[in-house]
Amino acid sequence: MPKTLFSSQWSANLPRNMIENSMFEEEPDVVDLAKDTTAFPITYEPRSSRLLVRGLGENDMDEDEEDCESSARLLGMSFMNRSSSHRPSAEQNYNVVQSCSRPTARTMVACVLFLVIVASMTMVLYFLPGCTFTKDGCPKRNKTTPLELVYPLATNGELFPWTQLRLPQSVHPLSYELTLTPDLDNMTFAGIAVINMSVLHNTNRIVLHGLNLNISNIGDGPASNVTVLQYKANQQIAVKFTEYLKVGQYCVLTLTYSANLSSTYDGFYSSSYTDKSGTKHILAATQFEPLSARKAFPCFDEPAFKATFLIKINRKQNYTTLSNMPQDEFERTSVNMSTYLVAFVVANFSPISKNVSGTLVSVYSVPEKKEHTEYALEAASKLLEFYNTFFDIDYPLKKLDLVAIPDFLAGAMENWGLITFRETTLLVGKDSSPLEKQVVASVVAHELAHQWFGNLVTMRWWNDLWLNEGFATYMQYLSLQEVFPELQAENLFLSVRFRVMDKDALISSHPVSTAVVTPEQVEEMFDSGASILLMLNAYLPGEQQFRKGIIQYLKQFSGSNTETNNLWDSLTQVSTPHQNVSEMMSSWTSLKGFPLVSVSRKGDEVTLTQEHFLLTPANASHTSSLWEIPVTYVNDSCSVGPECRQNFLLKAKSGTFKVPESVKWLKLNYQNTGYYIVDYGDDGWTALINALSTNVSILTFEDRASLIHNMFALSRQGRVSFRRVLSLLNYTYKETETAPVTEALLQLNNIYRLLEKRQEFDLMSCMKTYILDHFGALMDNQTWGEEENLSKQELRSALLSMACSLEKENCTQSANDMFKQYVSNQTRRIPGDLQQVVFSVAAQSRTDWLILYDMYKQSTVDAEKRNMLLGLASTQDTQILNEGLKGDVIQTQELPLIINTVSRGFAGYLFAWDFVQVNWDRLIEKFLVGSFAIQSIIKSVTSPFSTQAHLDQVKAFFSSLQERGSQMRSVQEALETIRLNQLWMERNLSTLRELLTKIQSQPQKEEPGVSH
Ligand SMILES: [Zn+2]
Repeated sequence: MPKTLFSSQWSANLPRNMIENSMFEEEPDVVDLAKDTTAFPITYEPRSSRLLVRGLGENDMDEDEEDCESSARLLGMSFMNRSSSHRPSAEQNYNVVQSCSRPTARTMVACVLFLVIVASMTMVLYFLPGCTFTKDGCPKRNKTTPLELVYPLATNGELFPWTQLRLPQSVHPLSYELTLTPDLDNMTFAGIAVINMSVLHNTNRIVLHGLNLNISNIGDGPASNVTVLQYKANQQIAVKFTEYLKVGQYCVLTLTYSANLSSTYDGFYSSSYTDKSGTKHILAATQFEPLSARKAFPCFDEPAFKATFLIKINRKQNYTTLSNMPQDEFERTSVNMSTYLVAFVVANFSPISKNVSGTLVSVYSVPEKKEHTEYALEAASKLLEFYNTFFDIDYPLKKLDLVAIPDFLAGAMENWGLITFRETTLLVGKDSSPLEKQVVASVVAHELAHQWFGNLVTMRWWNDLWLNEGFATYMQYLSLQEVFPELQAENLFLSVRFRVMDKDALISSHPVSTAVVTPEQVEEMFDSGASILLMLNAYLPGEQQFRKGIIQYLKQFSGSNTETNNLWDSLTQVSTPHQNVSEMMSSWTSLKGFPLVSVSRKGDEVTLTQEHFLLTPANASHTSSLWEIPVTYVNDSCSVGPECRQNFLLKAKSGTFKVPESVKWLKLNYQNTGYYIVDYGDDGWTALINALSTNVSILTFEDRASLIHNMFALSRQGRVSFRRVLSLLNYTYKETETAPVTEALLQLNNIYRLLEKRQEFDLMSCMKTYILDHFGALMDNQTWGEEENLSKQELRSALLSMACSLEKENCTQSANDMFKQYVSNQTRRIPGDLQQVVFSVAAQSRTDWLILYDMYKQSTVDAEKRNMLLGLASTQDTQILNEGLKGDVIQTQELPLIINTVSRGFAGYLFAWDFVQVNWDRLIEKFLVGSFAIQSIIKSVTSPFSTQAHLDQVKAFFSSLQERGSQMRSVQEALETIRLNQLWMERNLSTLRELLTKIQSQPQKEEPGVSH
């Protein structure tokens, strides 16, 4: 799935420990427990004290309780995390766990007693300073009170025969045959699942996933020797037999069931749209990644249980059904696939199609938007051919459908052979601008890359989701640059990397390949993956080495599952001269965050020092991280072309290299392809700033943008003064390139918005003068006609948005004129990149707001519709929030975007915060706790805050939620962001006042580089 567009599919509201417990690879079957219990190679995250309390206080275990083993394990973990300096080794973790899973005595009392004893010890030790939990402590206790494995209770009150969250390995599915009969009038469906399996260990029960399925029958007729049990907390079904299934046998399980179509955005869910004539049409579609296939059919819902699928869907005559394979032929998939990639759609859509190297590529939409599908078909066809060649493996299915689903929460989903999209990410008009086409082409490129990365080769477990997502994102930009160079995806990729770093610099971030604790962490995991792949590709010598490595990887693991190391091994194997890619990359995937490289120079000797870059100062465990950094640099004698790039591998805490004494300055991280930021120190920065002010083009535009980004990051952390930031920005009088200008405007706008929320009106006015002084001339140079060059579109869109939001008169006037002309003659098109500016300005007048609202209802052009919505949400009329929640005129999928826009404005940000608090339960009912939509909403409403009072409010609200959201990482990020905003204000408000007042009273351009 692409990350960019509120892409979310984390709909399963899992028990808190579900994924974490299920992290343990290949957990042995219960019957085999005594045989082997491997140590758990997991880094445990600090836990809340909730678990301690739970272990201590709740002696009765109800069916939702974790089993004894996991409670003891968690108890041990939470204790160990609290026992400070002597962090226990994995071995000690192992002892705690092992003791509990050795079944000798058989009473619940023993289990509870054990918990109480360990908890009491915990309490005692915790309050004894310097006392640590030693290796001898626990095992002794274990010898006297060994424990039985306690089975949870199934829904019918019987014992459920499996305690783990990961499924047993005793049977493996080989193929599924699904027959589904949806009833769209009554929002239900009936299903029959026939699953063929092979038996790998003797067993008398099959455990698989299923959630909210009413199983009415098992087998073809009445079966007396079988029992079906369900355990809701783990979303599992068990089928128990009176006799054992034997190793090597094949067996068939037939389950007949019914269920409701889901009303959220996951599982097999219903959706609707209203056509131009006002008729409402119901449709049904699926979104299974990561854990929702189990809501549509009983299945082994883990990515490593690959099987083939034959899917039959009964439909009414006026509906079309789509699935992974051609529907009318009812073909079995020719490939083994994971359950999360299964998909079906039941709707009245119509396609346009094209044959591309033996694959029938089709784009589907609601009938009245059929004319907007052509660009997607063209883009998909070209990209499919590109990938077939690039990966040297042909797309393996006969057909590839791309379907635009009305009301779809994720940006898109890469289901094999049936990719589903939001309408805005697939449909564009014939005359749409390159910027609108860029959105479609990049999402299509991302999803197509997944057909290889993710579908053909799949991560073994969700902790390595980055193998799917990092690669798809990386390939998305690489393929666009090759296939559609006119779409200039490099600017987009650069800004995406900056934003990923901003988030990754928070203390609440996590490593790329990480212990998965909650679903939202999985969602966040693929952020930096694409950046580190770019760094690796830039580092490996020779154009084709990276490509050779991934071809090798795809061919070797085609049809199976992998872990991160498999990828690095493949890249190592093909490297010439030999490079140990695993060694270099393991630091990047296992450590949290990214490094800061500090440069100091004495004569011809340059010393680089690395440390973990965190916006909030952290404790020692974080700062001891060491990366193997492929540093690149250029200097004043040669600084622009790729031939200027020099390399230095920084493996240790610090390292030195020589440069000629005559070198005036160094710029590290050439073209910002590395995933680190750089502090040049006072002298280094001054030299760079002086050089830039003399001649802008001594550095590539990526390098200029990266200097601006790094400088603001260092200032946010408090390492450099805001004076220094302004002295760098002095050169921007001469800057005309998109990436540096947009980065500077974004950063300045963030500060301006914070000042606005604190009602620092004098400072805002100074800031406005400053921005117009630096960028005013460039703003005035922008035209309002059609613009073909995409980079120029991005530039003017950013400049004019800023100009109009600062109420620069010639900007608002032009925007209003353009809107009037558009209203009087709607055949006149507003250029796509200017729509948001024009609609936002127009919407400030009540009359025009109402006109725009009517136009929104009528419009069928999705990109335009979205721009209208951004305009409507940018005003004082916050009623739009309720409209979004209701979902009649505005689809509920747009609510995160509306909340984001309302929160940015001064008129609405407090209202948006109230709205989220009041409607929290309805929001999590629609989007579910942990979903990316909820994360985005939290970020939007809390990031404008920078005062203690607001920090306290936000803290109080989220802690009051408890199970309804208080544990989310995004809450931690929100609190940290508010604290950082607060700190920045405390640190810089007076400097800012002094500087800006001075600049305002002397608006002539200062000599740069003379700060401090
Ligand atoms: Zn993706």
